[in-house]
Order: sequence, then structure tokens, then C-alpha cells
Amino acid sequence: MKRRIEINKKKFEYELQRRRGTRCVRLAIYSDGNFVVSAPRWYPLYVIRKFLEDKSEWIWEKLGKINFEAVRAVRQEEDSRYKAGKKSAKELIQSKLEFFNQHYNFSYNRVSVKNQKTCWGSASRKGNLNFNYKIANLPEELQDYITVHELCHLKELNHSRNFWKLVEETVPAYRELRKKLKNYSKQPNYSN
Ligand SMILES: [Zn+2]
Repeated sequence: MKRRIEINKKKFEYELQRRRGTRCVRLAIYSDGNFVVSAPRWYPLYVIRKFLEDKSEWIWEKLGKINFEAVRAVRQEEDSRYKAGKKSAKELIQSKLEFFNQHYNFSYNRVSVKNQKTCWGSASRKGNLNFNYKIANLPEELQDYITVHELCHLKELNHSRNFWKLVEETVPAYRELRKKLKNYSKQPNYSN
């Protein structure tokens, strides 16, 4: 959840992540300007605020080093790449869905192509499928794997043995492809 705070008349935005298991407040400022504060679930907001006040010197110093103009330029470039590529990515994914669904015969609702940061695809309980437009840049075997993976989540919303059995019906090499995909996720052009 994004929150705004003002300390000594300076405003900034941070993302508050409530975590089980942590016992203290942690701050992380990333090179793209993202400021993440993680805190235990039970921590009251005023304690977090106090913590940020105490650390404000450090925060200003870190934020001061970020080149926000460069960050914005990168975002704009990514945005225009997305706009240019999303239509053909959607066509590609739709044709793959139709192809593999001849085998599975599942029913799905909306198919969306998005510019996600952290995932290649997802399936919702309502039967909607989401895909990352960057799939279009992957080798075809990985495109097939991701399509089938999400398609099979329509039947099994988990990664159980039954789920993988379903995937295996049309993508027997799924284990290998899954590993391969992890390497692609680490590439700099796919930021996550
Ligand atoms: Zn999955």
C-alpha cells in the first residue's frame, strides 16, 4: 500500500509492507526511487512514523542520490515499448490459447495483456487470464509453456501434482522450460 508522509515539510511516498515474521522496521530505497518500508503486522502507524522521522537524514541522503529524470525516461521508454507491442502480443497469446485449448477444452473469460513487472502470467478464480506483453520476445517453447501453465490454472488454481500432470499433457518438457524461464526473468530487460 502506498502512503504519503511529511517530515520537516518534505513530502515523500513510500510503500508499506506488513510482514509476518519480521520483528523490526526495515527501509529499502531502490535505484528507481521506490521506497519500501516493511514492518511487522501489529506495528502501529505512529511507531512507523516515528521511525521514519528518526531516519529522515538517511532517507533524504538516499533519495537525493536518485536521478529521477533518468528514472522517468526509462519508464517512458518502457511505456512506449508496451504500447507498440501489446496488440501483437495479445494476438499471439490468443492464438496459442485457442490452439492448446483444443486439447483441454476449458472455459475462460477475459484475456488481458499487461505490462507487469513481476510475472509472466496469472489466472483468476473468475476465469480471467493475464499475460505479460514481453512474452512475445521469448522463444516459442517458453511462450507455449506460459500459455499452457495459465490455461491449466483454470482447472487447478495451485501448483499441485494434478496441476503439473495437466501441464504435462501438452508440454512434456515443462520442468526444463520452467528452469529456462527463470533465467529469462533475471535478464535486465525484464525488471522484477
Ligand atoms: Zn502458476
